[in-house]
Amino acid sequence: MTLHIHNTLTRQKEVFEPLDPSHVRMYVCGPTVYDWAHIGNARPVVVFDTLYRLLKRHYPKVTYVRNITDVDDKIIARAKESNISIKELTLKTTEMFHQDMGKLNALHPDFEPRATDYIGPMIALIEKLLAAGHAYEAEGHVLFSVPSMADYGQLSRLSRKDLVAGARVEVAPYKKDPADFVLWKPASEKDGQGWDSPFGFGRPGWHIECSAMAEDRLGETFDIHGGGLDLIFPHHENEIAQSRCAHNGKPFARYWVHNGFLVVNGEKMSKSLGNFYTVHELLEHAPGEALRLSLLGTHYRQPYDFTLEGLAQNKATLDKWYSALRQVKDIKAESSIVDEAFEEALLDDLNTPLAISRLHELVRLLNSAEDEKEKAQLKACLLASANAMGLLQQDPELWLQGQADEAIESQINARLEARKARNFAKADEIRDALAAQGIILEDNAQGTTWRRM
Ligand code: AMP
Ligand code: ZN
Repeated sequence: MTLHIHNTLTRQKEVFEPLDPSHVRMYVCGPTVYDWAHIGNARPVVVFDTLYRLLKRHYPKVTYVRNITDVDDKIIARAKESNISIKELTLKTTEMFHQDMGKLNALHPDFEPRATDYIGPMIALIEKLLAAGHAYEAEGHVLFSVPSMADYGQLSRLSRKDLVAGARVEVAPYKKDPADFVLWKPASEKDGQGWDSPFGFGRPGWHIECSAMAEDRLGETFDIHGGGLDLIFPHHENEIAQSRCAHNGKPFARYWVHNGFLVVNGEKMSKSLGNFYTVHELLEHAPGEALRLSLLGTHYRQPYDFTLEGLAQNKATLDKWYSALRQVKDIKAESSIVDEAFEEALLDDLNTPLAISRLHELVRLLNSAEDEKEKAQLKACLLASANAMGLLQQDPELWLQGQADEAIESQINARLEARKARNFAKADEIRDALAAQGIILEDNAQGTTWRRM
């Protein structure tokens, strides 16, 4: 079976051929951490998690990198407003992000580099660009010279006029060309965020962060680069420009995969428009798994119009599926082979709506199966297929009592109590029991968080 994936570079669905079939490498732009993630931010997380799971089933090794952007003007402003340090804000927000995404059953990426840990590699990359004549210094800034790259703009395919207009940057007197973009900008000590560099005390531009982290973790050329549609220009276009020009024109990412927008009444959900629901607040309405199913119910490249009614319908679907599993709870599921039609749907440019319709069909077959053997096979097939999408891994009984997550939280509290009472044997026993259900605990300064394996 072959994976076909839409590549924004060619605007076509292509056969996926990794550079090294023994090791697939994928980079996805992660969150800027200053506030709760909204459900639009969760879309790429769930989409690329589903792709990650698919790749892991078909290739011996997959390295998935999703960064944390912890240097940004919005972060500085929010830390000032809230009167806390930048470090405290970004650590706390990263923790909130992990917790929410864990509830959506998103697996942890293999690496989650933080931009502030990569200032050195960013500076090195900027120095290379300066040496190669692709960048210049002006008034404390370092700028990438867009006219220095003959084939700039291949990803977004924008006209020169649109490039300049779309760059959405104020006309700055120090720019040689209006399309030039910032690699490094000056900062002052009182901003609370800045680093010494050969170009002066300052901060990196956003695009150079991803170029540096991707190269460090995945090498100069790798397979898949993902993110939301809004990142094509300028972010991804500029990542390509920086990385290729620093590496003698070598290709950067080979397949560019972009998810469509999550919209509300046709408008992109965003913090600036104020039309957003945070994942955190939606988790009050429905379990994370229902959110995940909602997000996967629309093909990733289509816009997805989010409604609370849709969320409730997906919760009802899961209730139905868990009821079918409860009926066969005493039947041992044998093999764990993912359904072929289901897998084919995913291999066809991640056709999750079609894959979900196959899950409906498997549930229907399970409900009407008569003999034990058939039930055991269908149960195994349903569980393996649903798991491939991060679904149906909870105890049906607990789910139907609406208690799956609550039961875990109460176990975590019991473990904390045991630790307080210095009963470490009991605390470990609880941890092991949760681990056996695939629940991984992580202790940190804020307490204990959990995620599904
Ligand atoms: P940000 O934290 O704004 O940089 O966004 C993190 C990720 O969420 C990026 O991949 C964005 O493209 C994606 N994203 C932001 N808003 C939406 C939306 N409304 N629909 C889909 N993806 C989005
Ligand atoms: Zn990025």
